[in-house]
Amino acid sequence: MDEGTADRKTLHAKAAIAKLAASEAAVRVIDRCVQIFGGRGYDRAYRVERLYRELRVDRIWEGTSEIQRLIIAGELVRRGTDVLQLPTGS
Ligand SMILES: Cc1cc2nc3c(=O)[nH]c(=O)nc-3n(C[C@H](O)[C@H](O)[C@H](O)COP(=O)(O)OP(=O)(O)OC[C@H]3O[C@@H](n4cnc5c(N)ncnc54)[C@H](O)[C@@H]3O)c2cc1C
Repeated sequence: MDEGTADRKTLHAKAAIAKLAASEAAVRVIDRCVQIFGGRGYDRAYRVERLYRELRVDRIWEGTSEIQRLIIAGELVRRGTDVLQLPTGS
């Protein structure tokens, strides 16, 4: 975007894809970490408890996951799948 080469029309949906994928993946990972820690994962004395809370909110703020999906779906309906594909190798 800063380089001025990005397609502005699809940028919003591409950002939504990145935000959705990263925040959902992070929560899956930290959920597994809490599970591995067992009861300690729920204990505030351990950092995973705090990370769980901090990552959980990423699915909510700056646009919830449901809203990101609406943005992506709208763009897919309008422009099709090709324009939202990332370049090979990225
Ligand atoms: C710790 C924290 C800090 C924040 N900081 C800021 C800040 O600095 N600046 C700022 O502007 N905002 C901030 N927010 C607000 C944040 O952006 C909102 O919480 C977020 O956008 C969700 O809005 P909401 O809480 O009103 O939930 P709602 O919009 O009421 O959503 C509730 C649920 O309904 C779902 N939903 C809503 N509409 C639809 C729909 N059309 N289709 C399907 N599902 C839907 C949502 O996905 C969610 O699951 C902060 C929030 C938190 C928790």
